[in-house]
Amino acid sequence: MSRPYLMIPGPIEFTDEVMSEMSRPTPSHVDPAFIEVFGQALERLRTVFLAGPDYQPFILAGSGTLAMDSAVANLVEPGDRALVVDTGYFSQRMADIVQRYGGEVTLLSAAPGETITPEQLRAALAEDACDLVTITHVDTSTGVLTDVKGLSAVAKEQDALVIVDGVCAAAAEEMRQEAWGVDVYLTASQKAIGTPPGLGLLVASPAALAKWRGRKHPVGSYYSDWGYWLPIMQAYEARKVGYFGTPAVNLVMALNVSLQQILDEGMEQVFARHVLLSNAVKAGLAAMGMTQLPADMAHAAHTLSCPCYPEGIDAGFLRFVRAEGAILAGGLHPVVKSKYFRIGHMGAASRADVLTALGAVEAGLRQAGYAVEPGVGLAAAQAVLA
Ligand SMILES: *Cc1c(COP(=O)(O)O)cnc(C)c1O
Repeated sequence: MSRPYLMIPGPIEFTDEVMSEMSRPTPSHVDPAFIEVFGQALERLRTVFLAGPDYQPFILAGSGTLAMDSAVANLVEPGDRALVVDTGYFSQRMADIVQRYGGEVTLLSAAPGETITPEQLRAALAEDACDLVTITHVDTSTGVLTDVKGLSAVAKEQDALVIVDGVCAAAAEEMRQEAWGVDVYLTASQKAIGTPPGLGLLVASPAALAKWRGRKHPVGSYYSDWGYWLPIMQAYEARKVGYFGTPAVNLVMALNVSLQQILDEGMEQVFARHVLLSNAVKAGLAAMGMTQLPADMAHAAHTLSCPCYPEGIDAGFLRFVRAEGAILAGGLHPVVKSKYFRIGHMGAASRADVLTALGAVEAGLRQAGYAVEPGVGLAAAQAVLA
């Protein structure tokens, strides 16, 4: 490929089949063929999240932040108490949104690169009972993977609702929404789910819908109110006409193709591929002499890697990497931003893609003046992939 390869934690590289949907003539949002596509996309989203038929998917025009807003606006009432499991930048955003809708936030914060364990959550909830627990599945600012299964189980001991920001995890990290007791799992189109930016996606449990139905106060956001969107999602799934706001027609068509590609591969295979590619990247980085921001590889994400710059190297080196064929991202967590960079390897990413990224990092490091033996990172990655 002559253009550099986009390997940041979203947007990612999309498949040719997905991109060709974007260039098709835009049908009416009430065209029967489009109604069928929207209905399929809702069904497939629920399947990708491993949720049962009584779970309600929403596909909204907006970014991942809108999906966060939609979950919180509908499930938090003034005075509700929320415990925010804080593993970095996007957990802080979740706390801000909860406060915006009148919720009272208790932060349970991990140092950058650390996570929160179920025992820590149990202790925090014992001190401070909460109506709601929010979790960032993969914190994109630190590359930390949080134990959604373990934390949800603890939240359920207290009957708290669980909202999980899966924007950098959905359709990549293992996640079983119904089996794990997740009440809302949400994501954005441009990350591992593999569609250009512009859709906020969420799936709500029957308990979440019951909490929303029992609200005493109106939802504080007009656009996010499920009262408008639920009938629309139900109509499309029943293959009927519905209108509240015009859906992002081409993006929904592209999403439907991407979801089918994910389901054709199979969820277990998708989860396993992300583990394999991540292990290869992390082995390659270690072989080049780099440490990584997650303090323990046992809680490192499989959708991205966050290597620390070696001695004498800073973000300036990313332009050499780009010239060598890979666009990577700088740091994001405000406390440690200048110490690390980020490589995304999610969605349709393949073995060839991660080798491209590692090769570009090796060559970029040499150009920036850091002595790394040619091929050492690639050899370590190949050994994992073999
Ligand atoms: C990217 C990201 C978001 C924000 O999504 P936008 O589409 O940029 O609004 C939220 N949470 C996490 C974990 C993310 O990675």
